[in-house]
Amino acid sequence: MTTTPTTTAQVEDLTEVAARLDAVDSLAHLRERFLLPPDVVYLDGNSLGPLPAAVPPVLTDVVTRQWGADLIGSWNDNGWWEAPLRVGDTIGALIGAAPGQTVAGDSTSVQSYTALDAAVSLRPDRTLLVTDPDHFPTDRFMAAAVAERRNLDLRPVAPADLPRFLRDEGDQVAVVSYSPVDFRTGELFDMHALTRAVHDAGALVLWDLCHAAGALPVELDLIEADFAVGCGYKYLNGGPGAPAYLYVAHRHHRELRTPLPGWTGHADPFGLTRDYTPAPGIARARIGTPPILSLLALEAALSVYDGVDIAEVRAKSLSLTGFLLRCAEDLLTPFGFTSVTPSDPHRRGSQVSLRHPHAHALTRALADHGVIADMRAPDLLRFGVNALYTTHQELLTAARRLRDITAEGAYDPTPRASGPVT
Ligand SMILES: *Cc1c(COP(=O)(O)O)cnc(C)c1O
Repeated sequence: MTTTPTTTAQVEDLTEVAARLDAVDSLAHLRERFLLPPDVVYLDGNSLGPLPAAVPPVLTDVVTRQWGADLIGSWNDNGWWEAPLRVGDTIGALIGAAPGQTVAGDSTSVQSYTALDAAVSLRPDRTLLVTDPDHFPTDRFMAAAVAERRNLDLRPVAPADLPRFLRDEGDQVAVVSYSPVDFRTGELFDMHALTRAVHDAGALVLWDLCHAAGALPVELDLIEADFAVGCGYKYLNGGPGAPAYLYVAHRHHRELRTPLPGWTGHADPFGLTRDYTPAPGIARARIGTPPILSLLALEAALSVYDGVDIAEVRAKSLSLTGFLLRCAEDLLTPFGFTSVTPSDPHRRGSQVSLRHPHAHALTRALADHGVIADMRAPDLLRFGVNALYTTHQELLTAARRLRDITAEGAYDPTPRASGPVT
C-alpha cells in the first residue's frame, strides 16, 4: 500500500524542471500566434488544433472583400482557382514534398480512398492490400472498400510484423497503407525502413500523416514515399473540417488515375469537352469546386509555421512528451495509470496516452477543471502536445489536476454522454 504517493520534494522538483525547460524554450514566442482561451490547458490539438491569430482577419477579408465585393472575379483575381495547389505546396513544405506533388481538398477519408484506389491500379497484377489492424477506422474501412471493389484480399498486418509478412507474401502485395503514428498509443514507426521494405517487395506505400504532419519531420521525397494523405485540422490547425491533402510522388503522375475524375481535375476544365482528359501533374487529383472559405482559413493557419524549423518543433515536442511521461510516472502511476506510449524518443509521436479504467470519467472531470484532453475507448486518456504552444508547466498542471481528481475520487465514474463526440 502506498501511503504518500508523491513527496513534497518530488513535486517541487517537477516544478523546477518545468520552469527551467520553459525558460530555455526557443519556440516559446510562437504561442502568441494562437488565440488560446485563458486558464485552459489545451491538450487536444491532435484532434482539433486551436485557432491561429492569423485566421479571423483573413476569413473576414475573404468573406467581405473577396466574396462580397470582388464576387466571381475572385477565382482569378484573388487566387481562388489555384488555391488547392498553392495550399498543397505549403503543406508539402512541412512534409518534405517538393512543389507540384500535393493538392489540398476534400477529407482525409476521401483522399484515403482516392490514394488507395489509384495506388492499386498501378500494381494491377497483384492480389493483396495490406493495412494496419490498428489503423484509424476510416483508413481500414476505405481499404476494405477498395479491396472489395478491386477484387483484392485485405490483409491486416501490424507494422512490426511487416518485414516477415513481406518475406512470405510480398510478391503479391500491391499496396501497404500505414500511419507513422498510432493514434491511440502515440507509437512512432520508422517510415523510412517500412517504405524501403515495401519497395523491396515491389509494392507501393500510402502514408496517413494525420498525426505526423506539422508535429515531426516527415521526408516524403527523401524516403521515396509513393502516396500520402492527411488532415488539415489537427496539428495543422486549419479549423473544424479543414480540407485534407493528397501527395503523389512525381514519378507516378503520368499513370495516375483517380477514382473520382471530377471536372476541376480536367486538362481543360472550362473547355467543357465531352471526354475526360486528366490535367498534367497532381492537378488531376482535384475533384470538384474547392471549399474556398475553409481552404483559405487553412492557408492562413499554416502561416504559424513561417520561419519555424520543424526539427526544433520535434525537439521541443519530445521534451514535452518526455516531461509528461515523467510527471505521469511520479504523480499518476500510484493511482492506477499506466503509460502505453513508448518511452524511447525514437518511437514516440507527439502525444502521451495513459491507460486507466475510468478514462472517460476522468477526461470529463479534467475538462471541468480546465484541462482539455480526450479519450479513446475503452480506457485511454490521450494528451496531445503541440510544440508551437504547449508549455512544460501546463503539462505539470494537467498531471497534478488529474492526480488530485483521482485521489479525491472527484469524478462521476459513469458520466452520461455529453454528446456524440468523445
Ligand atoms: C483524424 C484521422 C482521420 C480523419 O479522417 P477525416 O476524413 O478527416 O474525418 C483519418 N485518419 C487518421 C489516421 C486520423 O488520425
